[in-house]
Amino acid sequence: ESGQPRYKRVLLKLSGEALMGDRSFGVDPAVIQRIAAEVEEIAAAGVEVGLVIGGGNIFRGVSLAASGMHRATADKMGMMATVMNALSMQDALEQQRLKARVMSALQMHEVCEDYIRRRAIRHLEKGRVVIFAAGTGNPFFTTDSAASLRAIEIDADIVIKATKVDGVYSDDPVSNPAAERYAHLTYDDVLARRLNVMDATAIVLCRDHNLPLRVFNINKPGALMRVVQGEDEGTLVER
Ligand code: UDP
Repeated sequence: ESGQPRYKRVLLKLSGEALMGDRSFGVDPAVIQRIAAEVEEIAAAGVEVGLVIGGGNIFRGVSLAASGMHRATADKMGMMATVMNALSMQDALEQQRLKARVMSALQMHEVCEDYIRRRAIRHLEKGRVVIFAAGTGNPFFTTDSAASLRAIEIDADIVIKATKVDGVYSDDPVSNPAAERYAHLTYDDVLARRLNVMDATAIVLCRDHNLPLRVFNINKPGALMRVVQGEDEGTLVER
């Protein structure tokens, strides 16, 4: 039976690169508006949506550290980049007439709310999209880990990781046409074979809390809706 959402509450992870489109830096407004429209569709179907947004389109801690900056400082810059992306997404969601709230792991009171777990859950119950910004608030972590962490905290039914390809493949599907898409993987497959899904910290968090994870192509129109309907879209990682 298609149409009915399979999940009540989801955590969608968007990398900074997903917002960049074909640009080499920053945010492409057309891309962010299209993603916001797809989020609006699943919200209209009754799904409660939390978003974790990356910052790699602006600053990435490892890259700054490679040119000599202390990693802890570089990571603070990366976290602040995620707040900028979160504000772009909040604006785009509001243009879709959704209610949205940015909640940051770093305090920025003139800009957004603090992340307070119980308040985040209240927003979700009221149908507001919650955008979790500044990752975990700690250096040496990633927004993938923040996605797993927030998903566990808010009792999300699934983590949905947006990528540029149709899931996890046996090889690079762009250079190797014979590469096969995996419909299902276990967390331990991903870890043992070092498959490029999310970093190991993020996968271990999902595994230890039995939180399913689906990787899908954000550039494929309608794919997000199919994911929340439980269709065979992308790759499902579970126990
Ligand atoms: N970051 C961090 N702690 C976190 C999440 C992110 O220090 O909990 C920093 C880190 O420097 C990272 C940057 O923020 O490189 C941007 O996040 P990420 O690389 O995860 O973004 P994405 O690759 O998803 O765009």
